[in-house]
Amino acid sequence: MKNLLGGKGANLAEMSSIGVPVPPGFTITTEVCTEYNQVGPEKAVELIREEVEASIAEMEKIMGASFGSNENPLLVSVRSGARVSMPGMMDTVLNLGMNDEAVEGLTAKTGNARFAWDSYRRFVQMYGDVVLGMKPASKDEIDPFEKIMDAVKEEKGYVLDTEFTVEDLKELVTKFKKAVKEETSKDFPVDPWEQLWGAVMAVFDSWNNDRAKYYRRINKIPEEWGTAVNVQAMVFGNMGKNSATGVAFTRDAATGEDIFNGEYLVDAQGEDVVAGVRTPQQITLEGSRRWAKLQGISEDERAAKYPSLEEIMPEIYKELDRVQQKLEDHYRDMQDLEFTIQEGKLWMLQTRNGKRTGAAMVRIAVEMLEQGLIDEKEAIARQEPNKLDELLHPVFVQEELETTETVSKGLPASPGAATGQIVFFADEANKYENTILARIETSPEDLEGMNVANGILTARGGMTSHAAVVARGMGKCCVSGAGSIVIDYKKRTLTAGDVTFKEGDWISLNGSTGEVYKDAVKTKDPELSGDFAKIMELADKLATMAVRTNADTPHDAQKAREFGAKGIGLCRTEHMFFGEAKIKAMREMILSEDEKGRRKALDKLLPLQREDFEGIFTAMKDLPVTVRLLDPPLHEFVPHEIKQQEELAKEMGISVKKIQDKIESLYEMNPMLGHRGCRLGNTYPEITEMQSRAIIEAALNLKEKGIVAKPEIMIPLVGTLAEMKMQEEIVRKTVEAVFAERNDRIDYLVGTMIETPRAALTANEIAESAEFFSFGTNDLTQMTFGYSRDDSGKFLPIYLQKGILKNDPFQVLDQAGVGQLVEMGTKKGRQTNPNLKVGICGEHGGEPSSVEFCHRVGMNYVSCSPFRVPIARLAAAQASIK
Ligand code: PEP
Ligand code: MG
Repeated sequence: MKNLLGGKGANLAEMSSIGVPVPPGFTITTEVCTEYNQVGPEKAVELIREEVEASIAEMEKIMGASFGSNENPLLVSVRSGARVSMPGMMDTVLNLGMNDEAVEGLTAKTGNARFAWDSYRRFVQMYGDVVLGMKPASKDEIDPFEKIMDAVKEEKGYVLDTEFTVEDLKELVTKFKKAVKEETSKDFPVDPWEQLWGAVMAVFDSWNNDRAKYYRRINKIPEEWGTAVNVQAMVFGNMGKNSATGVAFTRDAATGEDIFNGEYLVDAQGEDVVAGVRTPQQITLEGSRRWAKLQGISEDERAAKYPSLEEIMPEIYKELDRVQQKLEDHYRDMQDLEFTIQEGKLWMLQTRNGKRTGAAMVRIAVEMLEQGLIDEKEAIARQEPNKLDELLHPVFVQEELETTETVSKGLPASPGAATGQIVFFADEANKYENTILARIETSPEDLEGMNVANGILTARGGMTSHAAVVARGMGKCCVSGAGSIVIDYKKRTLTAGDVTFKEGDWISLNGSTGEVYKDAVKTKDPELSGDFAKIMELADKLATMAVRTNADTPHDAQKAREFGAKGIGLCRTEHMFFGEAKIKAMREMILSEDEKGRRKALDKLLPLQREDFEGIFTAMKDLPVTVRLLDPPLHEFVPHEIKQQEELAKEMGISVKKIQDKIESLYEMNPMLGHRGCRLGNTYPEITEMQSRAIIEAALNLKEKGIVAKPEIMIPLVGTLAEMKMQEEIVRKTVEAVFAERNDRIDYLVGTMIETPRAALTANEIAESAEFFSFGTNDLTQMTFGYSRDDSGKFLPIYLQKGILKNDPFQVLDQAGVGQLVEMGTKKGRQTNPNLKVGICGEHGGEPSSVEFCHRVGMNYVSCSPFRVPIARLAAAQASIK
């Protein structure tokens, strides 16, 4: 039906056909538009003249009015309406049918000459513009009608349009018509039929105006669709005390509560309700009482000054209530309605699925499922994964936001709301009770401070910067790459535009929008209602792909488990090295001269790592835990401050100079492509040995306590089979040695990340050794595009702005490019090993469109930060029912 009648026409027809009172009208189909474009106006009019005349006659009958009448004139609107909505692209004419007789008729009927003449004035203006082409002559000239109005205003000393008197409006109509005559050499048409045909043709023509063409091009809407034309009787809510207009929702759009609600105004036009000039009143008595309570208005005052529609027009209210129920039952979704009451008669002008908050989205779907309005698949299909985010993080109290000042905007790196006093150094994050850690960028050393702070703000870095990744993992609010702020560590100041904050000043971050606010803004905890759990349960029932989490601490693992993670897909062991004792031993290992020195330091690390693994395996008991061996370039761990260098020199019994020389020697031009990943484990096998031992010993220790650990050892940054094989051999040899020592065994896997293009291209070879693949799409994106993960903040925002890229490829998986490698890698891997387990653990694992892609290529799981787990579960379910 939409193809023929267009969206608006179909909707009106549908409402009408189920018995909802819609102002009478008819739709000229899109086919006529196509015909019009081929045969021209005369022939097109002849084709439909008879039908249009009959339809107008029918409308006249229903409305008891007639076209051009000086007693009861029928006025109509003529609107475009394509198959899909093209907001504001095509033309509309209102109040058509107005002429010198009709305006008298409307005056007599309404007793409101001002309203009648203002309607006339608006009609001549709109018709002149849309149909007669009375537009500004050039882009720096103003509209010809506005020019006339301005002249009259100036002459009379008015400021606002509302100051025009009836006489002024009459004068304007005359002047407008005169201008039309001068400009077009034709009289303004007074015959309603001539007006109507002119308007219909103009709407058809507007299909081919420049802005509509442009809109179609960018939205890929076919040229040949054409637009329909809707001709509908005008109804007026401003015809006195028994007229009104309003908007309503069939359920509460903020909370989802199944309660009819909305606002109206007596004797008003549609835009008055939203314009905020008059205080709109509530439709239902219940809503009115709730509103008054919030406003601190007494029941007496409410009833006297702001009565509900239910009280003042009980019969109409009952009808409206029946209609809203009917519409919701029909569309099986919460409806957003517009209505007008003209002289005691209710007319519905529009219905559409209502916009809603995340909380309302979940509650409405669950309740509609329970009410039998929709089925399980529909309930899941209706969830917008990203909106679930709103339910998982603290949120700002909305009213507070209205009075806060936004001082900067960065990337919405990790959602949520955070407020606190500014600190600039991670080890000072607990200086105040509530802190925001502000850094130019963060590094692994800042981990503890990041955990303590309420939120993290960085001046540099993108969506996969250290700050962003770690914050998402922690479920901590983070705004990264706020390029307009300047941080001065020495002075301990943060400058955003002309505001300078000192340490201890209050600031607030909106991690969902990237906004940075001045001062403290109140936050509240999210409510994870029972409905949320129900939707999640349903998602798991429908999904075929599992969702795991990226977690490095028992706390995060626990959190992710609560959010429904079915295991850990990536435990970045380097994140475990930042406790006081561990970092020291780690540095000692890195700065050692030889293998012997390294082994000595690794012996210190072994028990600490083992303990960490015991913690994480316990939190994830019975579920698989993928532990990735050490990955980042070593220099990330070395001390850069002299005080720490001195301490370390003392500890190791060597000179500070030696330490500094070693640090110098670790310097790399391009560390991300340097000595990292399995290149570490293959050059320093003792690191792999220590980590493998720690993993397996931890699992065996737990086994003794009856806790089942399921470790999966993962080798990072593999590019060739030989690299993988060498690591596998070291792991297996170490593990077998531990088994022999303990005289016990457990099941474990050895697999790899696929995060270099070469690994994806030779996945069939690599699968000879790897028992599972996990696509590291952060590095794979970096290497496929050749965009540095750490430096892309400099150009990616501009690329996005200029449309060179549609999405940030570090956030949304580039299916066309990187996706080919993922798909190929999966296929090739499974050619060698049909049972190969395949997952993803890059940031994309929690992004809905990427999750859908992973489902399509047949992955077994996606893995994402704990707070993205529900979103990924939902996206996985949606992918499987598509
Ligand atoms: C990746 O590269 O996608 C990945 C998960 O590893 P990391 O982000 O730790 O480099
Ligand atoms: Mg990586």
